[in-house]
Amino acid sequence: MELAEAVTAGHRPARGRPAVHLADLSPAERRSAVAALGEPAYRADQLSRHYFGRLTDSPAEMTDLPAGSRAALARALLPALLTELRVVACDGGLTRKTLWRAADGAFVESVLMRYPGRITICVSSQAGCGMACPFCATGQAGLTRNLSAAEIVTQVFNGASVLARGGMAGGPGRISNVVFMGMGEPLANFTSVLTAIRRLTDPVPAGFGISQRAVTISTVGLVPAIGRLAGEGLSCRLAVSLHAPDDELRDELVPVNRRWKVAEVLDAAWGYAAATGRRVSVEYAMIRDVNDQPWRADLLARLLAGRLAHVNLIPLNPTPGSKWTASDPAAADEFGARLAAAGIPVTVRDTRGREIDGACGQLAARPG
Ligand code: SAH
Repeated sequence: MELAEAVTAGHRPARGRPAVHLADLSPAERRSAVAALGEPAYRADQLSRHYFGRLTDSPAEMTDLPAGSRAALARALLPALLTELRVVACDGGLTRKTLWRAADGAFVESVLMRYPGRITICVSSQAGCGMACPFCATGQAGLTRNLSAAEIVTQVFNGASVLARGGMAGGPGRISNVVFMGMGEPLANFTSVLTAIRRLTDPVPAGFGISQRAVTISTVGLVPAIGRLAGEGLSCRLAVSLHAPDDELRDELVPVNRRWKVAEVLDAAWGYAAATGRRVSVEYAMIRDVNDQPWRADLLARLLAGRLAHVNLIPLNPTPGSKWTASDPAAADEFGARLAAAGIPVTVRDTRGREIDGACGQLAARPG
């Protein structure tokens, strides 16, 4: 079914799929969807300016549209995709996690984090995750389904709209950074994630106008998809969740490594760096006595030497039932120091949201 038809036919392109939303559509598709509703095509642009520019999806605020058209346009093109179930905050309100329920009952979470000089939203690309990493709460729960592009965009819309209205500690603000580091494996939901990236980064009224350079896509290392992403002509940052420099350990920590080995994942990452000119971020959760030995730091340094890469060390966050704990601070310091001594840029993640189960690897979206 054509998208325009899907919109007029009660906006469900296929059974079990989320409703089609303005944010799923390119500007040209929006114009045909609006025309299919019997409205002049320029209304698509007006609607887009409200949604992507003024950050409102409330028909009552769209006073430049005839009252009669507003409700019909909103009903067809701005269906409610995610219902806010719960908001929890910590860090004096500077970290804010939202639990969402999708129309089919799937749950997802997103986390808004305000830092001096930047505001980052961490979004989910799937409900659950199929990658089964044993130290990650999302991975333990399994995959429910892919999110649609608009379900991803909705998370950012909500964050942006809360910020614009001064709904977060620190006063009114704007989202500067988006990280695909919430629930799910973004490259396993390639098409929707790519569409969402376009909507986030295209200028108003096509999208929110967030800089591509400020968008990070984090992956377990789906090698063919990294290659595909490199061919998209984007300038987004790629983060690779490596967590071990050797296949023996990585096979256990990141099970997809049994399919694509460390060397292949890193080759794909260097291909991405070459295509985009962007430094790849190598994510490494520090797990006590598992991956934090000095020899592993040295091996990692050898793998990254001379490459466009930096290492982001993440203190392991606690997850229910996990047998692992965070590295001893002295071991973590030693690990980072060995990388730095070898000339590898290294940072330690300023982990946010641990108290609200909103930190890396803790998103499990349990409504109870
Ligand atoms: N599936 C993608 C996107 C999720 S990003 C990916 O894996 O990259 C979430 C990041 O947090 C990943 O780097 C993940 O490996 C890391 N992570 C998962 N569980 C964690 C935990 N318990 N403590 C710290 N980091 C964790």
